[in-house]
Amino acid sequence: MATKCDSCAREESDLLAVHRVYVTPESWDTEEKVEVMAGVERWCVVCRLHYPHQPLQE
Ligand SMILES: [Zn+2]
Repeated sequence: MATKCDSCAREESDLLAVHRVYVTPESWDTEEKVEVMAGVERWCVVCRLHYPHQPLQE
């Protein structure tokens, strides 16, 4: 059964459950902010290479 990546919608068999992470780069008046989303998504290897994320905690 084919499954789609939740990030790019590509059909992929090698999916991993992750939390999406939003990174706001620091600027002159704010520190870098890292937000870990509570929701679980399944990402392909390409998205895991290119986008910040956190593997699901066992
Ligand atoms: Zn993907």
